[in-house]
This record gives sequence, structure tokens and C-alpha cells, in this order.
Amino acid sequence: MDAPGSMWQSDGDVIYRTDAVGERVGVFPATCRRGEHSLDNVGYRAHDTGEGFLQISCNACFQETPPRYDHYWVLRLSGPAPARAEIDDQPYLNLLRAVQLS
Ligand SMILES: [Zn+2]
Repeated sequence: MDAPGSMWQSDGDVIYRTDAVGERVGVFPATCRRGEHSLDNVGYRAHDTGEGFLQISCNACFQETPPRYDHYWVLRLSGPAPARAEIDDQPYLNLLRAVQLS
């Protein structure tokens, strides 16, 4: 649940996995929120809002003028910061589908 009175809703929680050597890895969607770009190709920026959320911003959408308001994911962080991050659509298929239907 988002904090009462927040202006926006998060898209969901950051999904984590544990890699072969036991490090905590944050997994982000590999497709931008508009479903138009592969973040692998165009690049992305992850910005910690400092309020427990991470914004995953698509570089291609961000460069549009004016930038689209919906060019970034907002995902809720939980627990300690991951050692590193990777991008993978697989854990986010339901979210990707939900966003593209809205
Ligand atoms: Zn994009």
C-alpha cells in the first residue's frame, strides 16, 4: 500500500533474487513503462527517491520533449540495498501486461 495522501501509486515492489554466491540482486523490468523500448538497448537510470522508492527511467522516453510523464517505473524498495542490479522482464510479466492495458 502507498502512503496515504501520496500523489501517485507505485507500480509494485522491486523483485530481488539471490545469486550463486549469495549476493542480493535487484531485478528491474527490461522494458520501459510505455512498452516501447528495451532498456538493454536504450539504457536507463535508476533513481532512489530517498522515500523507499526507486524510479527506473527510460533514456529514450526521457529524451522526448517534453519528457513523457509516464516514462519511468516507480518500484518500492524493501530491505537492504542490493549488491547490484540486473534487468529482466520475466518477473514483471503481470505488471507489464497490466500497464499496457491501462
Ligand atoms: Zn521508453
